[in-house]
Amino acid sequence: MGCTAQGIADALRAAAGVIGRHRVELIDLDRAIGDGDHGENMNRGFAAIVSALDSKVPENPGAVLKLAATTLISKVGGAAGPLYGTGFLRAATATGTMSEVDTSGVVAALRAALEGVQARGKAVAGDKTMVDALLPAVAAAEAAAGSPGADVAAVLRAAADAAAKGAESTVDLVARKGRASYLGQRSAGHLDPGARSTALILDALAQEAR
Ligand code: ADP
Ligand code: MG
Repeated sequence: MGCTAQGIADALRAAAGVIGRHRVELIDLDRAIGDGDHGENMNRGFAAIVSALDSKVPENPGAVLKLAATTLISKVGGAAGPLYGTGFLRAATATGTMSEVDTSGVVAALRAALEGVQARGKAVAGDKTMVDALLPAVAAAEAAAGSPGADVAAVLRAAADAAAKGAESTVDLVARKGRASYLGQRSAGHLDPGARSTALILDALAQEAR
């Protein structure tokens, strides 16, 4: 059993809820090493996804992910909008027109999202960005999908837990990409807002898949 279009839509609604509840936290994280707009930008984008889904849930998982991508690209702005937008768009392409996404589909979508974010933003591990959450998440998802009896929920749980650890690891890092890199050494000692939002989104997806 995998995720249907409705399942992905529900997971995105859950992500929107989590982003909304953490809006102020994300604003504060971005205020410390950026310009303070990340929480507002992400909340606006995910609220717009919910509105779009309220009017119509597209027919297959790939189309739902594509709707999320185009909404994020048009509504979020900043660095994160195009990055998340590209990630969701690549996930949509990886999912294609399949009617349900199984564990290998989830892994392929996550891997494609990571590749999209890296193609767009050129960040690598250790640059103190969302990549530091997403990269270990993909590795953990791949490992989990390889263990016997793993379902979509288990794969997403492994990804979310690895993303949370990866996000925490950004505290000690000096930013080499994005606005925080302008601070140089002074960026160390703060959690990266984009890594935090990535971990929050994956956690919401994992919770919804249970
Ligand atoms: P902006 O920096 O334009 O204000 P946001 O505040 O919405 O945009 O997003 C900032 C987040 O974007 C950072 O915390 C970081 O995780 C992510 N980010 C910035 N530049 C890059 C990049 N080149 N690659 C990956 N992620 C990046
Ligand atoms: Mg910002």
